[in-house]
This record gives sequence, C-alpha cells and structure tokens, in this order.
Amino acid sequence: MDDNHGAAHPDGRKHRFRTRLSHAGRPGTKAYGFVNTPVHRGSTVLFPTVGERLGAAAHRFEQVMTYGTQGGPTHWALENMIAEIEGGTRCVVVSTGLAAVTTPLLAYLGAGDHCLMPDSVYGPARSFAEGMMARCGIETTFYDPTVDEAGMAALLRPNTKVVYTESPGSHTFEVQDIPAIARAAHARGAKVLMDNTWGFHFFQPFTHGVDVSIQALTKYACGHSDVLLGSVTVNSEEDWQAVRGASSALGQYASADDCWLAARGLRTLGIRLQAQMEAAVEVAHWLRHRPEVAQVLHPALPGAPGHAIWKRDFTGACSLFGIELKPEYSAEASHAMIDALSLFGIGASWGGYESLAIPTTGFITRTAGTGKFAGPVIRIHVGLEDPADLIADLDIGFAALHAYRGRNLDE
Ligand SMILES: *Cc1c(COP(=O)(O)O)cnc(C)c1O
Repeated sequence: MDDNHGAAHPDGRKHRFRTRLSHAGRPGTKAYGFVNTPVHRGSTVLFPTVGERLGAAAHRFEQVMTYGTQGGPTHWALENMIAEIEGGTRCVVVSTGLAAVTTPLLAYLGAGDHCLMPDSVYGPARSFAEGMMARCGIETTFYDPTVDEAGMAALLRPNTKVVYTESPGSHTFEVQDIPAIARAAHARGAKVLMDNTWGFHFFQPFTHGVDVSIQALTKYACGHSDVLLGSVTVNSEEDWQAVRGASSALGQYASADDCWLAARGLRTLGIRLQAQMEAAVEVAHWLRHRPEVAQVLHPALPGAPGHAIWKRDFTGACSLFGIELKPEYSAEASHAMIDALSLFGIGASWGGYESLAIPTTGFITRTAGTGKFAGPVIRIHVGLEDPADLIADLDIGFAALHAYRGRNLDE
C-alpha cells in the first residue's frame, strides 16, 4: 500500500473483475493478519520528531499520513480499489456522489470559462452549474447528449475548459458517444469529465478518452442504501494534482466508517451486479412485450435507443432503466400504477439490494429540447429480489393503470 505512495497496484490489472474485487485494497500484513483493512478514525497524527513530520508533509497528496483530512489507510484501501476497477491511476473519495461531481468541476473551471453539460445530466449537477458556477462567472451550455464529433466540435469555444458527460443519462438513458466527444474536446484542449455511475466497471472511462471519472459510490458500490459517498478517479499526474488539490482546498472528506462500508460492499459487487443485470434484462424484456408500453429505455436491449453505442463501448449494464407508457395513459395513471406496486419502493437513488420505481415525467428539467416523450416515463431499479416476483408485482401495477384509465374514461 505505501510502497508506491498511492498509485493503484499495477499487478491488479492482470486479473479479471471479480478477482480484483476480492484482492484489491487489502492490508497484507499491516492488520495483524486480519483479512480487511480496519476502520482508522482520526484527526491528529503524531510524529516522533519535527523532522519526520516535515518529511511526511513533503509527500503532498500521496498516501502518507499527515492529518485526518488527508485520509488514512481505510480511505486508501477504498481509493485503490476504485482506481483499479476504473482502470485509472489514482482516486480520491469525497463525502457524496454530488461532491464527486462538483469537486472536479471546481478543479478545472474559473471565472470567464465555459462548460458543456449534457441536457440529460443528473439534476443536482445542472443546479450546481446554473447556480454556484454561474455566480462564479462560469458559463454552461447544455447540449444534446447524443451529439456526434462534428456537433461537439461546433459547440466548443476557445474558453471551453470542461466537457462534462454522463452516459447513459440516469433518467432517460441517452447513451453518449464518449470517444467521439473526447476527440473533439481534446483537439481543443478541454478536459472530459464523466459521471460513470451507471457504467461503473462495464464502461472503462480511460480507454474511451475520459480524463476524470466520477462515481456515486452511494449506488452499487455501497449497495445497501445506507451510505453516501463519492469518488473521483484520474489517470495522469496532472489531473491528480488538479483534482486532489481541489478536494483538499474544499475540505472534502469522507468518514472512515463509510469508506469501510463501501469497501465491504465492493467485495460482493461483482455477483450483485451480475444478478441485478440479468434480472433487469428479464424484467425489461417482459415489459417490452406489454401492450401498455411504448418503449423500454434500456441500452442493453436490441433496438432500444443508444443500443449500438452501448454494444460498442460497454461490457454490461446495471439494473437501472426506464419505460415509456403509451400516450393514452396520463402521468396520474402512471402514478397510480407505481402506488399499486408492493415490491418496488418509491424513492430517489438506486444501486441498493431493493427495487425502486419513480416517475420521470414532470420530475426532470431540460433546456436543450431533449428528453421529450409522448407518454409518461417511469424509472425502474431492479434489486436482488427474484425477477419472477417483480414481474408479478408489475402485473398488478398494470391492472391499476387500466383501472385508473377506466375510471377517468367513465367520468
Ligand atoms: C445519485 C447520483 C449522484 C449523486 O450521488 P449522491 O451520493 O446521492 O450525492 C450523482 N450522479 C448520478 C448519476 C447519480 O445517480
């Protein structure tokens, strides 16, 4: 862990995903032989001499203990795991997924700069751009997420410092052509930031031209709907200095207890993701054949929007997707359908072990004219329940949808 001052272990790359999840970030002989890195809580770090304290401080932004805010072994174990999973060199954990969005934006942008964000971007990221970033004199243009290379080139200005991406969008599932966007951005010297929470290890950001990869570890990494945490991963020393510098300047910190829970969650991530991916595809297939459904917004389904790019760039899919109902159903009818479900909770977030369903229509903001649907859209997260039970529950939901429509037609 401390032999290379914090880079992800190069040997880890040669193993497959599940093996890496099992072996990355382990303490070796440093935990009295215990398998896991323990929770190290602390603010003050004591040194035997002033000289040793100065020596430690010289290792700025490396895995050397100086003070609590610089992190400790529990943080580094998790950071090394994430860096390995994403194929980057270094990672810093921050308090939430949203902090993982805002920290690198602030690392690269200042007054007079321009930022490009997809119209499908995670709502609080849009709010940050329109609020705090705007107040700091940073201008943001929201672009069609399905833009191609020439389209992106046309959007770039001399002062565009950041091209932000999120693929697929977490409400309407537009898959972005990240390599094309990155080529256009890099030709003009802009950094490419990506919210890779949906793709996680199924999308390797750095082999597709991304400079900074953002994760809401709150989702599948923690996996149990009881931790908030984010990570920012980079693949160059220059980006590490920028991102780690910003997280340090902002006082970003994650609790060691939460890092320990996330590292624990990651040990089972491979089998959870596999099971949830398979169950979600099964549920999505069933939904596609329902007469009430206009389309299923699941990039892994042949014929679904974004499927060709997903197939080219991703090696799998997580268990979050959407359905658009036929336009004859109202948004209120779709709410009645969701209310009738007993196995799907109604709530924000995803990536936990439990299934969720929430309305998308009326709950998302778009300013570039994208994300328009004729019928109501529902977002579904498939948990670890048996998919046959989830399908039976959705069947009850469709009965409620019909009952609501029938009630309205009678009036
Ligand atoms: C949930 C989410 C975030 C933010 O994560 P929090 O830990 O809830 O702040 C960021 N991006 C995406 C795509 C998300 O779904």
